Amino acid sequence: MKSNYDILVIGGGPAGALAAKTAAEAGNSVCLVEKRPAIGTPVRCAEGIGKELLKEFIKPDPCWISADIESARIIAPNGTAIKLDQARAGNEVGYVLDRKVFDRELVWQAAEAGADVIVKTRATAPIMENGAVKGAKILSCGNPAEIRAEVVIAADGTEAQFARWAGLDTTVPLREMMSCAQYVMTDIDINAGSTDFYLGNEIAPEGYLWVFPKGDRTANVGIGITGRKSRDGARAKDYLDKFVAKNFPNGKTIELIAGGVPVCRPLPCTVADGLLVAGDAARVVDPITGGGIGNALYTGRLAARVASKCIEAGNCSKEAMMPYDTEWRASKMGATIERNYKVKEYFITLDDKKLNTLADSIASISFSEFSVAALIKELIKRNPKMLLELKALRDTLA
Ligand SMILES: Cc1cc2nc3c(=O)[nH]c(=O)nc-3n(C[C@H](O)[C@H](O)[C@H](O)COP(=O)(O)OP(=O)(O)OC[C@H]3O[C@@H](n4cnc5c(N)ncnc54)[C@H](O)[C@@H]3O)c2cc1C
Repeated sequence: MKSNYDILVIGGGPAGALAAKTAAEAGNSVCLVEKRPAIGTPVRCAEGIGKELLKEFIKPDPCWISADIESARIIAPNGTAIKLDQARAGNEVGYVLDRKVFDRELVWQAAEAGADVIVKTRATAPIMENGAVKGAKILSCGNPAEIRAEVVIAADGTEAQFARWAGLDTTVPLREMMSCAQYVMTDIDINAGSTDFYLGNEIAPEGYLWVFPKGDRTANVGIGITGRKSRDGARAKDYLDKFVAKNFPNGKTIELIAGGVPVCRPLPCTVADGLLVAGDAARVVDPITGGGIGNALYTGRLAARVASKCIEAGNCSKEAMMPYDTEWRASKMGATIERNYKVKEYFITLDDKKLNTLADSIASISFSEFSVAALIKELIKRNPKMLLELKALRDTLA
């Protein structure tokens, strides 16, 4: 194992893998460390991603696509379904990936580009010199060592600790940490061409329940509820079990996962001297959908591009690397996160009666454009009694 690199990447998820590949392609010496013994497992994801978004980063390959989706349905507490076809649903429909293979492919590509990959190797602390990050202390298969680098890219996911160790504030308020549980189920009656999102305080308080097909009779069936709603007897898994008993009583569960998704605003700052933070570690998940694969890929690639330029210029200070933070905040991704955060904050205040009213009012509409703005315009038009609160929401988005 070498002990000196231009760039050290912590974490072999989508953010870390694309960061390592991009950095290696730019001619840097790169090392990626992953604490788990195998890349991609266990999967902690419902595996859905929009087609166009994915194509910005990698050419789709049937090897790691489980299902090609044609439509999505949002199902209100009273059963009213709002159907969105592919043209209108944007990033809500697309592919359901096989992340075990997908994550492996991304890391494989990083290795092919020249990055060293070391699994079963956990970063345990940053190496700090004069307030700047200069690498990481690691535990590799139980053996302590140090890897020094000009820049560290922290892509260590939801439970990320590296940025906090280096002095950044990474707190996620409990109410904004979605508590998730998911079964991979087989032998169930589903529409294999549609992703389904179930809303309602009885079904998934302050969150939603999803059914994402992975084949004709197989799907990821999962749920996310906010941390503050999770308690004994009413944990995410308890809500999921209730739904499954009612809807798929004869289905078989072949996998169970639990995990957290941060739906807070992104970190106040994602850069420090010698350090860039990407993906879930930077909290760049979509606050409404909890989708983070695309944003992890985007920030991972951008972090590597900025780091490469700074290394070439011989200046990896916070100030020199700030264009990373500024650029993603100003991007479409940054603007969407900010807008969807506000929309999420409004929607979690709605009781089931209001959710039903809103869903009923737009269920029959064929949207020429399915965007959050178009949706709110229609909701305002069709719900005069809720005009005041909807108008307040529209004003926050203006
Ligand atoms: C239940 C659930 C369902 C989801 N569904 C979807 C979905 O349908 N679509 C979607 O887009 N997103 C979904 N997400 C979110 C998505 O999985 C994440 O946004 C995405 O994986 C983030 O990628 P990442 O590279 O930032 O982090 P991760 O994929 O979490 O990768 C981080 C990696 O860092 C490693 N690591 C952590 N600490 C260390 C350390 N100290 N040293 C070395 N390695 C370390 C971890 O082992 C991990 O492999 C879901 C998440 C959950 C929990």
